[in-house]
Formats: sequence, structure tokens, C-alpha cells
Amino acid sequence: MKVLVTGAAGFIGMHVSQILLARGDQVVGLDNLNDYYSPQLKHDRLARLTGKPGFSFVKMDVADREGMAKLFAEERFDRVVHLAAQAGVRYSIENPHAYIDSNIVGFTNILEGCRHNGVQHLAYASSSSVYGGNTLMPFSEHHSVDHPISLYAATKKANELMAHTYSHLFGLPTTGLRFFTVYGPWGRPDMALFLFTKATLEGKPINVFNHGKMVRDFTYIDDIAEGVVRVLDRTATADPAYDPAQADPARSSAPYRVFNIGNHAPIQLMSFIEAIEQAVGREAVKNFMPMQDGDVPATHADVEELAAWTDFRPAMPVPEGIQRFVAWYRDYYKV
Ligand code: NAD
Repeated sequence: MKVLVTGAAGFIGMHVSQILLARGDQVVGLDNLNDYYSPQLKHDRLARLTGKPGFSFVKMDVADREGMAKLFAEERFDRVVHLAAQAGVRYSIENPHAYIDSNIVGFTNILEGCRHNGVQHLAYASSSSVYGGNTLMPFSEHHSVDHPISLYAATKKANELMAHTYSHLFGLPTTGLRFFTVYGPWGRPDMALFLFTKATLEGKPINVFNHGKMVRDFTYIDDIAEGVVRVLDRTATADPAYDPAQADPARSSAPYRVFNIGNHAPIQLMSFIEAIEQAVGREAVKNFMPMQDGDVPATHADVEELAAWTDFRPAMPVPEGIQRFVAWYRDYYKV
């Protein structure tokens, strides 16, 4: 199987690519290697893929309309895992254009590439942030979610809506993956676990937003990557339950799906920090701060749809996942 993985130098992209390569798929990794965070970390992730049999890399911006059209036409991918995006809720407040370029224009290029080149299945990153300030817990795919509270979340919700139109109009099977706060080795330097671990090891203060009264469904990277690959493997033709004759034409002419991929075991931010302190062997200096614009107080994934569809549920206990991250961090940064 020939798979395009966009954002392959990213945190989730590297792990997904590793699974696909290990089982013998051909992976074309694409990334623009932007400097939103440490280019060195992206370079080192990519180095873990380069040279593996079946892997090739294309440095390209998904917003490059002509470049993307040419790539799709030349490569004829079987399936696409689209993870390249401008991530980050807080950054979106001051940098809206980066989100429109990568997440809206870029996503349009992905949809067009899939539509015109016979791609069998597009699995793309959405986000738990589409649930906004939803207070119905756990968050279910059956909840109507249309009040995002950051531009980042709005672009992810827009991706789901755009995917629906392509499934409906052009018969493109699409699956949106609502990831819930992903953490683990090779994780992003702009996210809490990385920032807290670094600061605590250096004896510097950490910013604890909403005075610690936040709840997050932290999900371990290996569980996310496994979930992505399991979803990718289910296509329209592989789904015995899918009958085009029975499909509701008002909804979609091809399978259009959205799944939560979360741990289904949310924890308080203060417990998360305690687990980091235990793993690091030092108490964190806490700087309690108010809630940040765009942040939601709690997330909690209902994963029954994912389990029913893939027979898979994320399962890594957070303290163990944190131990693994801290071990990686110490090894990678030699601290
Ligand atoms: P990441 O930033 O580590 O990876 C994204 C990669 O995409 C980066 O390597 C970046 O260089 C690349 N990229 C960004 N814009 C691009 C563009 N215009 N063209 C080509 N490449 C581009 O982020 P991640 O944590 O691996 O997230 C992957 C996806 O999952 C993103 O779509 C993100 O929004 C989504 N997501 C992540 C989380 C999480 O907790 N990590 C949660 C919800 C959703």
C-alpha cells in the first residue's frame, strides 16, 4: 500500500509513519519543516524515518496548490493520512493567517488531490477542540458541535465539514480523527508535558493555567498512532456493514466518519503535574495563572465508536506514559 503521510516530521506523523513502514507499506512523508517549534527536533524525527525501506520524503507546503496537484498526479497514493497543520490553540489567537493557509487552503489541496487521483481513504487530523465549551461529558461524536472557541478549533471543524462535502459529492471516503491531548516521546515543545518537564528539570517555574482547575484526557502517542492506522485500514470496500444502496444521500454518498481518539480517562491538571514531579524526582515551582483565551476547562473522550469500528481502545495509564516521556527527554537532551 502506498500512503502519503503529511506532517511526517511532526510528533504524530513520525510515529504513524514508523508503524506503516514496519509492516511494509510504502510511505511518502511530506512536511514543510516550518519553524513553529524546534527545526532540530523535526530534523531528528525525520532522521528516524529516512533510509528505512519504503520511505521517501518530500519537502513541500500543503498550501502549494500546483505542487500538491502534481505530487498527487505523479504518485497515485492508495491512502492518505493528513496530519500537517498549524497546531496550537493559543498561537492561533495572534497568528490567524497561518491557520487559514495550512489548515484551510492546505486541506482543500488534499481533498482535491484525493478526489482526482483515486485515493481510497483520507484519514485526517481533527481535534478534541471542536467540542469547544461543551459540558456534556464524555464528548461524543453524536453531540452537535458548532461553537469552536479558537480559530484553531474552527479550522478543524471546517475540515470536517469540507470532508463531508467531498464524501457526499465525489464519493471520497473520509475519516476525521479527533485527537485528545497527545503526549509521549518525541512530543511537541509547545505542549504542557514538554514545557513542565523542561522547567522542572531546570528548577524554573511552570505556568499552571486556570489555577490548576483543568481536566484533560491525555492520550499516549502509541495509542494515537495505533488508532490512526487501524482507522486507515478500514475503507469503504473493507467495511462489510457499508452498503452504498442504504447510504443516506442527504448525508453522504461514501462513508463519512469522525472518531474520537482519546484515553477515556481524564485527569486533573494537578495530578498530571504530580506525576511529572514523580518522574523527574523534583517538585515543580508553580506559577498559578487565570484561564487562557481559547482554552476549554475539560476534555473527556467517548471512545465507543472507535472501539466498535476498530476493536481498539487507547489504554496507556498516564503516570506510565509520563515516565516514558521523561526517560526519552533525559536521553534526547542528555540531562
Ligand atoms: P506537529 O506540529 O508536531 O506536526 C505537524 C507537522 O506538520 C510539523 O512537522 C509541521 O512542520 C508540518 N506542517 C505544518 N504546516 C504545514 C504545511 N503548511 N505544509 C506542510 N507541512 C506542514 O503536530 P502534531 O502534534 O504531530 O499534530 C498532528 C496533527 O494532529 C495536527 O493536524 C494537529 O492539529 C492535530 N492534533 C494534535 C493534537 C496533539 O495533542 N498533538 C491534538 C489534536 C489534534
